[in-house]
Amino acid sequence: EAKSKGKSAYERFAPQMKESSHERLQMESRMRRALELDEFQLCFQPIVSTSSGNLQAAEALLRWNNPTMGLVMPDRFIPLAEETGLIIPIGEWVLKEACAAAVRWQSITGQRLGISVNVSPRQFRDPGFVAAVMNALELSGLEPERLELEITERLILDHSIETSDILHRLDSEGIRLSVDDFGTGFSALSYLKSYPFDTLKIDKSFIQDVLKEQEDASLVKAIITMAHSLGLTVIAEGVEMAEQIEFLKEQECDFAQGYFYSEPAPDARFEQWLRDRRATES
Ligand code: C2E
Ligand code: MG
Ligand code: MG
Ligand code: MG
Repeated sequence: EAKSKGKSAYERFAPQMKESSHERLQMESRMRRALELDEFQLCFQPIVSTSSGNLQAAEALLRWNNPTMGLVMPDRFIPLAEETGLIIPIGEWVLKEACAAAVRWQSITGQRLGISVNVSPRQFRDPGFVAAVMNALELSGLEPERLELEITERLILDHSIETSDILHRLDSEGIRLSVDDFGTGFSALSYLKSYPFDTLKIDKSFIQDVLKEQEDASLVKAIITMAHSLGLTVIAEGVEMAEQIEFLKEQECDFAQGYFYSEPAPDARFEQWLRDRRATES
């Protein structure tokens, strides 16, 4: 339109910017109330042994059900939660809920399943983080060995003494630590040697094309070999097809997670999945 062509770049973009910052503010104020209004929900996704097919653990994945916005996925709200610091109370809620859920599953499965919880950098660096983790364990009665904290390479990259110190404190409590989205960062691999990680999660972008792209297959093979030589357990993320499981099994990848087994399911549906699974097993 002729009129808008005459406008300066600033004028043309300003209204949009204003709207998006308005949206952000609106989302922030909604997020501030979300905890007390009980709008957050955890979904759980199974982590399965590639060799035995046994269920090992589940990953807790956060959802936000807002009456106005509907179901909001974490990629849309976690960044803002990080920026505003709201990730700290939200993250505490996630830790408590996730640990309590893992204890509840014991009566369904008779197994001591593990629970993986995602931790974002801001949350990890909060001075109260270790205490919040210990509090969630105490309240639920979950053994520390059954909790695995998932941390991305982005966080490890800062190489600070604080990061190292926190990782070692968590490790000394017996809590397991994993590197999430492995392969997507540009980090030096040396951190794997100096930090007490237990598990490496291969990012789903590598798994997606593992049957089609020779390069992806080679990378996945190399990552598994390297991880095992460092004594790390390997989980493949984003597994959607039986053929991918076959490949991962051949490469001796320890565990797999993805839609092939189950999409992340809300509490009640996950518990039903556990019951159904138990019924078919016995
Ligand atoms: P992530 O930890 O790498 O989680 C895996 C993501 O892959 C999840 O997305 C999951 O739903 C998705 N996924 C699982 N299986 C498949 C599959 O077979 N195919 C495909 N295409 N995708 C699959 P989701 O739930 O949207 O979470 C996105 C990210 O948000 C997570 O990535 C994690 O970094 C973050 N996040 C989720 N919950 C929390 C939380 O409680 N706290 C924090 N700080 N971050 C969280
Ligand atoms: Mg994760
Ligand atoms: Mg350890
Ligand atoms: Mg991941």
